[in-house]
Amino acid sequence: MAKVAFRFDIDSHLCMRDGVPVLIDMSERLNVPFTFYVNAGRAISIKDTLLSLIKHKHEEDTKKLSAMQKLGLKEYAYAAIVNPRMTRYKENIQMIYRSKCELGIHGGMNHSHWYMYAEKWNYEKCRSELLAGISEIRKIIPDYEPLGFAAPGFVTSDNVEKALKDVGFKYSSNWHSNGSDEIFSDFGEYSTIGVNLCGEPGGVAYWEYAKANEWTDEQTINYFMHMVKTKPYIVVFDHPYFAALKEKSLLEHIICQVKDEGNEIVTMSDMIMERRKNG
Ligand SMILES: [Zn+2]
Repeated sequence: MAKVAFRFDIDSHLCMRDGVPVLIDMSERLNVPFTFYVNAGRAISIKDTLLSLIKHKHEEDTKKLSAMQKLGLKEYAYAAIVNPRMTRYKENIQMIYRSKCELGIHGGMNHSHWYMYAEKWNYEKCRSELLAGISEIRKIIPDYEPLGFAAPGFVTSDNVEKALKDVGFKYSSNWHSNGSDEIFSDFGEYSTIGVNLCGEPGGVAYWEYAKANEWTDEQTINYFMHMVKTKPYIVVFDHPYFAALKEKSLLEHIICQVKDEGNEIVTMSDMIMERRKNG
């Protein structure tokens, strides 16, 4: 029987405003916990979007959807022009915190800056980005204590990991394991846990990868269940706007099948506790 964690990274206003309520409702109806990682600042920087178009043009050939394809022109324009801070959606952050789901942090004060530059930041810059994110969340949830962290684009460094430990995070999920069985590189006081159910290479969000590769629903379900049957711990990741808004019935179907076949859906921190118990 596998333990399965659903990781949802909240990158944009669409994830937060429209995706989160659907997932919280699903979590209650199906009685399963999810793990959310929220960026406390802004989603994009127009300058960096343009730079990344040039920089990543020829890099990877893993099929994925562009931000424009995913959001649609209207919502992309809203993200680019209005570019609201995610903490503007106070009720939705509180909704996660009050639910059975886990609330972690996804980067610092700008999702796109982290993705583009965090690898090269010095220790002080890493630390100040993390502290700024925590203090934004505390404006909404005064007693929020950092627990889990997931880096935008899996971008991390020694400075990032040290700063995460120093500011009090208990674990990070900053890597993807290319399907390997062991997804814990450490499960001590500060644990590191990888994502093992995503598109590879590149660690592309699962449902988005399936859609970009024109998988049928049946293929998406079968690959998921194959992983659940062959590995003890599964961490799958996607974004709320996609999984909850575009693939809602497929997501629900998978959750029910995972449960019906006797597996357990847990939060990321519960998965770490379980791994520790097993030594
Ligand atoms: Zn992200």
